[in-house]
Amino acid sequence: MKNTDISFDSLGLRPELLSAIASLGYTSPTPIQAEAIPVIFEGGDLLAGAQTGTGKTAAFALPIVQMLAETTPAEKRRKPRALVLVPTRELAAQVSDEMNRYARRLSLRSTMIYGGVTIQAQIERLHRGVDIVVATPGRLLDHAERGTIDLSRIKFLVLDEADRMLDLGFIDEIKKVAEYLPAKHQALLFSATYSQNIKQLADQLLDQPKRVEVARRTLTAEAVTQAVYQVEKSRKREMLSFLIRKNGWNQVLVFTRTRYGADKLTEELLFDGIKAAAIHSNKSQSIRTRTLAEFKQGLFRVLVATDVAARGLDIERLPHVVNYDLPQVPEDYVHRIGRTGRAGEEGIAISLVSQEELILLAAIEKLVKQSIPRQSLAEFPQYAVRRTVKAKEGKLAKEQAKPKKTEVKAATPKRKKVVPERPAPKTGRRGQRSSR
Ligand code: AMP
Repeated sequence: MKNTDISFDSLGLRPELLSAIASLGYTSPTPIQAEAIPVIFEGGDLLAGAQTGTGKTAAFALPIVQMLAETTPAEKRRKPRALVLVPTRELAAQVSDEMNRYARRLSLRSTMIYGGVTIQAQIERLHRGVDIVVATPGRLLDHAERGTIDLSRIKFLVLDEADRMLDLGFIDEIKKVAEYLPAKHQALLFSATYSQNIKQLADQLLDQPKRVEVARRTLTAEAVTQAVYQVEKSRKREMLSFLIRKNGWNQVLVFTRTRYGADKLTEELLFDGIKAAAIHSNKSQSIRTRTLAEFKQGLFRVLVATDVAARGLDIERLPHVVNYDLPQVPEDYVHRIGRTGRAGEEGIAISLVSQEELILLAAIEKLVKQSIPRQSLAEFPQYAVRRTVKAKEGKLAKEQAKPKKTEVKAATPKRKKVVPERPAPKTGRRGQRSSR
């Protein structure tokens, strides 16, 4: 991430926050921080175009925490006055962590609200009193409707990764949540892309917003080296194993389009002797959290994820991202490769592209306004993974080895039929949404 010549000191931040920033090792503001923080301090609404990895979280967290601390007398604290809506539980956790780092310095309390876990513990935390709430829209609306959260004092509303929230079908929840807010509040919308839907949402929820844009949606992260390998669909798994071994990659985030595809690939990598695990919205929250923690600790090499699950993952210095399937929505390519090359690190984003996906590749290249270099692997065609099929096919082999009455020859084990991957069903929000 490119930082600016502006210093944090010049942004008018309080000493407690400056020391929090220093302890995180941030030396100067990123462009979104340098541009957005003054606008937020001025008090106006903000429409910010910034993708993940640009430092956008601190861009809204720092001024909000400071203004809450300065404008609210102690006796009025512990009522939610800032609400950050995010698309996924993972992003909620990441934003809440960052928010807490600053909030604690100014004796403010932040909490996280998301679905997929029991509501009771959240009710109790809200009851004990919080200043800042980071939430996924579905569960937050549940609380609002049950009356377990009082949104009438909200001064700041942040819509983080608003484009993703719309992709996940949260539009109705967002609008309903907005009805619970007081008429006068400051609204900040962050989005990596500006679709017509985002414009409509901004028109409804923001009042004459200032626009700040640091990375146009068509730009991919600067520090990411991108490459395309053209490969038959049936040989993608083999090529992935080959690339991981040949290059000695130890921390790879691999994207598949479907949950089924993620599980299948994980199983196949394990057969190839490459430690891997999958993360998708069918997995329970505790398993997702644990899997991510283990990946961060380097306990396995490959994390296979779907777009929905990966949204909001903050994995420091993630060196490699592989698009095992190209995304159906070209913007997702930008989100995916935003997972590498973060915070000034170099990253590599590889796409394995089959003949059938060339049309998707063309749409991506149009969006990012560049042609992604094609690479070939001279040694790959001869390469054959010594795949252990024994365990998988042992049962089949046993069955086939039993001579049938009419059979004379002993049956030879056959490869298990590979079920073709189907694209993700167009589920709309019901199938994909996991945070309510
Ligand atoms: P975000 O876009 O908020 O997800 O931030 C991406 C990453 O950048 C996170 O790992 C932050 O800790 C890091 N970061 C945020 N602000 C800065 C800064 N000013 N200098 C260096 N790293 C930063």
